[in-house]
Amino acid sequence: MTNVPEIFGSDVFNDAVMKDRLPSDAYRELKSTIETGQALDVELANVIAHAMKDWAVEKGATHFTHWFQPMTGFTAEKHDSFISPEDGGRIIMHFSGKELVKGEPDASSFPSGGIRATFEARGYTAWDPTSYAFIKDNTLCIPTAFFSYSGEALDKKTPLLRSMEAVSRQAMRILKIFGNDTGVKQVFSNVGCEQEYFLIDRELFNKRPDLIYTGRTLFGAKAPKGQEMDDHYFGAIKPKVKAFMSDLNINLWKLGVLSKTEHNEVAPAQHEMAPIFETTNIATDHNQLTMELMRKTAQKHGLECLLHEKPFDGVNGSGKHNNWSLATDTGVNLFEPGKTPSQNAQFLLFLVATIKAVDDYQDMIRLSVASAGNDHRLGANEAPPAIVSIFLGEELTAILKAIHYGEEYQDEKRKKISLGVNVLPPLPKDTTDRNRTSPFAFTGNKFELRSLGSAASVAGPNTVLNTAVADVLEEFADRLEGSKNLNEDLTILIRETLEAHERIIFNGNGYDESWVEEAKKRGLLNMKTLVDAAPAYINEKNLNLFNKHNVYNELELKSRYDIKLEKYWKTLNIEALTMIDMVRKGYVGAVIGFMDELSDVCAKKEKIGMYSEKSMEAVLLKNVSKNADLMMERLEKLEKSLSEAGNMEESMELARKYRDSVIPAMDKLREVVDELETLIPGDKWPYPSYGDLLYSVV
Ligand code: ADP
Ligand code: MG
Repeated sequence: MTNVPEIFGSDVFNDAVMKDRLPSDAYRELKSTIETGQALDVELANVIAHAMKDWAVEKGATHFTHWFQPMTGFTAEKHDSFISPEDGGRIIMHFSGKELVKGEPDASSFPSGGIRATFEARGYTAWDPTSYAFIKDNTLCIPTAFFSYSGEALDKKTPLLRSMEAVSRQAMRILKIFGNDTGVKQVFSNVGCEQEYFLIDRELFNKRPDLIYTGRTLFGAKAPKGQEMDDHYFGAIKPKVKAFMSDLNINLWKLGVLSKTEHNEVAPAQHEMAPIFETTNIATDHNQLTMELMRKTAQKHGLECLLHEKPFDGVNGSGKHNNWSLATDTGVNLFEPGKTPSQNAQFLLFLVATIKAVDDYQDMIRLSVASAGNDHRLGANEAPPAIVSIFLGEELTAILKAIHYGEEYQDEKRKKISLGVNVLPPLPKDTTDRNRTSPFAFTGNKFELRSLGSAASVAGPNTVLNTAVADVLEEFADRLEGSKNLNEDLTILIRETLEAHERIIFNGNGYDESWVEEAKKRGLLNMKTLVDAAPAYINEKNLNLFNKHNVYNELELKSRYDIKLEKYWKTLNIEALTMIDMVRKGYVGAVIGFMDELSDVCAKKEKIGMYSEKSMEAVLLKNVSKNADLMMERLEKLEKSLSEAGNMEESMELARKYRDSVIPAMDKLREVVDELETLIPGDKWPYPSYGDLLYSVV
């Protein structure tokens, strides 16, 4: 039996370990440094480094690394051993405060989107003491921020930390206005991210070049059975999967990840893990670790974990629901409808601020979840649409309407809602969460952003949410600070805000065709692809937003624009090349082999006078042959559009070319190959089928 409380966090240099291992004045100093966000002094750093190293070595660590999150969206680490030479050919294990606090990895091979060209190649990593160090693979990992010589963020963590500061600063002003700031030092943005994934057999995975190179199947006729029976969702977990989940949980718990819920998802071979929420910074680190451990643990179990947003055509892709809220460091959730009129007025203000923020920055929210892989999901009637809207539920919408129009609220007692006077009627939580088609749903005491793809880092979307909401809170605080009649001014503010932004509230079915029309009438954006969304990084409205709150400067935004586009077309380029490779090296031979066999039968039958144009082999041969010709024709078309793209240089031009010409050529090629798959016997087909892949794990 696993003793969970005992193993939980056992590989983490957490608060309890620090308290235990650091001299008490050093511990206190470190805590106050973390709280105030000041730089660590060298002497203190030395003391901490020493204690960290002793702890890590006792746990078998031989190396340390600054663990960071470059703009690839993955994590990076470069290991250094603790060894330091001594006289007599001996070594000691050594780790200095300087090594803890700052690193200088060569930044030149990480994407920088032009920042490096403008400045110099060096990048620096700096310890983020708000996220605990931990041990992974006998290596002490120190969570760090990664930035350029001139201080530009080269990573995903730095802007996220800045956005957390921004939203905390503005939220504190609001709490003060309502007199709810007593004892509160900070407001945290929290996130719980539900992670979906597929598990397939590793041997089969290794036989599919498309899965190996791109993480998704680029070919594959549908299996006779998909998800239509709804029999997988919450179904009994198969023994092999259960063994994987148990092992994963233990690995995650050791690292202090609060892995809580596990279940089967809608598609065959699809599953989900949800942790308990944490501050956005730590939740981001933990989600990265979760994805890494999912892959590694699967491999140990003879499985492969697919984190791609759309590994299989025809069944659901995988997402990552981002449950987001704001809470004080004293534990008060600011999206929890309160028990007193004043708490409720404050709740409504935070709610309305979020509504405005999401409406004003729809473009950035959409962009923050955009990737080549996620383009397959958004708008494909299996995930929220590419149109950003907010689901509030009937109850809350009715309350807001009553305030907006000064009407009676139609609950059982026909109460008139007046801010600062009424206690809100209780919102039944289960009715707030029914609508699964909304990209941004209020679910009782938090918002759930459902548009993220499963492979995404959650840093980007939360940076945007925090900053956009910070901006509106700032505007509201400017208006309300010093108000002589808070209730009245607040009512006016809420009315005005709803007047201007009610268009973003939509409680209907987001998958419905009619919503696209309706959203258009409302003037909401519908950015279908990453290419449509990318310019949001560099428009003036968003430059101003991020500049004003010190989250991204202009250069940092420009670099993210370049990297987003570059990653997009490079992903597609790899996919297209993989398709070409699979056709030329695999499908061509299989198709020729089968045609050869069929012609043989035709010839033999002719010899004995049994041949007819209507005989099976003749009909089949004709059909296969026709599709084979079409396959080659379409293959050449794809090659041509790739070589045209090869002559282009500018990112946006390239991205458009891939979207408008390469993707359609890929789709056409796939269509004909999938058709051939249905014609050719399984044992002659070179790669495992959808049926094999989706139903292989028992
Ligand atoms: P579901 O969305 O499947 O109904 P839950 O609502 O129980 O599941 O929780 C989903 C996720 O939301 C979990 O990760 C949970 O920890 C997280 N969560 C719950 N409360 C909050 C909150 N106040 N802020 C952020 N995340 C939260
Ligand atoms: Mg959910």
